Amino acid sequence: MQSLWDDREAAQYDGDLGLRVYTSRLLGRDPGLVLHGGGNTSVKATRRDITGEEIDVLYIKGSGWDLTTIEPQGFAPVRLQRLIALSGLDELSDDQMAAELRVATLDPAAPSPSVEAILHAILPARFVDHTHADALISLTNTPAGEEHVRDVYGDDALIVPYVMPGFALARLVARMLSGNHGGISGLVLMNHGLVTFGDTARESYERMVEFVDRAERYLGGRGAWWIPSNETRPPAEDRIALSELRLAVSRAAGTPMILRSCLDQQAASFARRPDLASLTQQGPATPDHVIRTKRIPLLGRDVEAYAETYRAYFERHRARLASDPVMLDPAPRVILDTELGLLTAGKSVREAMIAADIYLRTIPIILRSEALGGYRALPESEIFDVEYWSLEQAKLRNARRPGLLQGEVALVTGAASGIGRACVDALRERGAAVIALDVDPAIEAMWPGEEVLGLTCDVTDDAAVDDALGQGVAAYGGLDMLILNAGIFPSGASIAGLDASEWDTVMRVNLDANVSLMRLAHPLLCMAPRGGRVCVIGSKNVPAPGPGAAAYSASKAALTQVARVAALEWGRDGIRVNVLHPNAVFDTGIWTDEILADRAARYGMGVEEYKRNNVLGVTVSSRDVAEVAAAVLGPAFAKTTGAQIPVDGGNERVI
Ligand code: ZN
Repeated sequence: MQSLWDDREAAQYDGDLGLRVYTSRLLGRDPGLVLHGGGNTSVKATRRDITGEEIDVLYIKGSGWDLTTIEPQGFAPVRLQRLIALSGLDELSDDQMAAELRVATLDPAAPSPSVEAILHAILPARFVDHTHADALISLTNTPAGEEHVRDVYGDDALIVPYVMPGFALARLVARMLSGNHGGISGLVLMNHGLVTFGDTARESYERMVEFVDRAERYLGGRGAWWIPSNETRPPAEDRIALSELRLAVSRAAGTPMILRSCLDQQAASFARRPDLASLTQQGPATPDHVIRTKRIPLLGRDVEAYAETYRAYFERHRARLASDPVMLDPAPRVILDTELGLLTAGKSVREAMIAADIYLRTIPIILRSEALGGYRALPESEIFDVEYWSLEQAKLRNARRPGLLQGEVALVTGAASGIGRACVDALRERGAAVIALDVDPAIEAMWPGEEVLGLTCDVTDDAAVDDALGQGVAAYGGLDMLILNAGIFPSGASIAGLDASEWDTVMRVNLDANVSLMRLAHPLLCMAPRGGRVCVIGSKNVPAPGPGAAAYSASKAALTQVARVAALEWGRDGIRVNVLHPNAVFDTGIWTDEILADRAARYGMGVEEYKRNNVLGVTVSSRDVAEVAAAVLGPAFAKTTGAQIPVDGGNERVI
């Protein structure tokens, strides 16, 4: 491992806090050091208050900030003397500590200081860096862990036995430091991570790099750094098996869950190891991971047995906690299956992705520890204490209410514009993950993040649609909702002047493609945890057709009839099918200025008059239709199927 310090980059940062930001980000660049909010850093400085008094402060990483992207305001300024005084207490509960840290913070707008603030305060240097470096964990998580650590660091580091992070760790280190430990430049926290310190940002950071490098070289010298990868068979693509597994995980969790396939081949070959049980069923690499990954992965697909084991683990340890803890859901977050490879679950796409990132780091940690003499995790009681930490329980109690469609998966066709695009937005806002299809390749980059999977797809190409469904299920685990929106609206032609090939095209896009997609989606919708839902975007032309749109009206009428039959046939599968009949939605792809003018002329109106030509005298937007579509898919319509709902401002011919 090498230092990433660059003088020109560093020159762009001002003062000690600026350089603290810079080297924190350098740590964040390496996922082998810090991952998803792991690790924390600090700098000691002085600050003048409003009366002119100079106060010693510790700028410590605030919770909710990630070292990778931290800014100066991500560091909370906390009174240093107060923190040192707190370190001398015999006892301080986590809740008391959190309150004390808040009160000692000099800026009410600052984030909550890290739970390691007291530890940072008592260390005898201005800059302190703390990471959960993979290489160090590989050393400590072995039967001879302490000997290995002593071999690597000699007198340069103080070896701290594992205790809970927070006050217990700070108090222990304070006591150990009160002995004579003059020469040390770092701490090894067994089964947890590394702490280094120095008088400049660069010194502290480069000590961290050097400490990690020494661990890596030590592993290398014992043939325990490079992991041979022997097999390169990718995991199987089996969307039915994935949907079944997601249904079981969702049932155990009591809420719909995202299940993400990890296509990594090393993970797939790890999942096929004959010694998988002995490697993975001991516990996580560090207790820090337990919230994201649970204590152990599920091997295979028996989710119910896993949930039973989890409940028993909870019962074994609940008495360890003073107040009665709220039991977390017993569903697995990491699954290793010989066929499906590594899968991760979460209440959101992000949760599932973080679990995957963590487990992809965990696999080499375990294999390196194995090569060094055997992987050994902490006892489950220690893991339980972190999983049911009062600070974590407080987060649970204060969690925001989930969206109405949280953890569910929708597929929207024609999603790059108009009603389809607005539907994707409306579904995202309610917490759903969305597979968004469109013939326009712009769909692939339309939404940032991983909650929308935008795929270029011609819905009239059955093979392409089938492939898109496969990709969607690999990304999210199944399918709960379908919005059939893609459609075309040809320019007006009377029946006498109808072109046969145009008729065919309209039928293929507006009718055949939707019927194919419904057929392909049906087995997946059957396994939706809350029951499948289909929302068909029909048209006012179904109940009230107009002249010059025979092919369009006939295609939408046929599609509506298919939806009604589907409502009858699929009721026993728990699938609801409803139809919306929008009218005069002019912010969609099919309404060019030319078509709009043509339509208005047919009714003998100006364009503006035509737009508001309804009972309520309102214009109807794509967003209006999307809101109704999302509502129809949501719980308010749980008892409604086979309905046709106008979204048209009221139409005299329909009413
Ligand atoms: Zn830590």
